[in-house]
Amino acid sequence: MGSPVVLLDVDGVLNPFERPHQGYGRHACSPNGITFQLWLDPGHGPSLLELAESTGAELAWASYWCDNANEWIAPRVGLPRLPFVPIPRFPGAAEGRTLGAWKARHVAAWTRGRPFVWFEDEPDATACLAGEPDVADHLLVEVDPLTGLTGEHISAAAAWLRALDL
Ligand SMILES: [Mg+2]
Repeated sequence: MGSPVVLLDVDGVLNPFERPHQGYGRHACSPNGITFQLWLDPGHGPSLLELAESTGAELAWASYWCDNANEWIAPRVGLPRLPFVPIPRFPGAAEGRTLGAWKARHVAAWTRGRPFVWFEDEPDATACLAGEPDVADHLLVEVDPLTGLTGEHISAAAAWLRALDL
């Protein structure tokens, strides 16, 4: 079993869909020439870095932003460049898969053998992970996309990571 990973989604997790309150700022982010208006909180990075450092975990992106998160999101939330799960564009429901299932397949493949916490707002991601082979211990912290990542989510992740029998 390798060292644990903390996986970060962007939309609905670091970028809540409702206008948030304290701490957030509005940012225009233009990956691939398309401009999106995001709410981002520079307090998230330090909290997540503290989580990783205090539990021996590694932070990584699990978002359709992929490597674009390093350019557009990381500096605005106070994170360094992070590794990312390569998640190809969702092919649609042709295979009977949902967005959550598509992400879960790639998360399962990338984390193989390593325990992980996943901050995610797709509601069916947990069930989809259960159907993937060789998934190590994991905790899916389901985030409400309207309000985004909170200190309670990070505390739940910290408690789970500390209890891991590595
Ligand atoms: Mg999301």
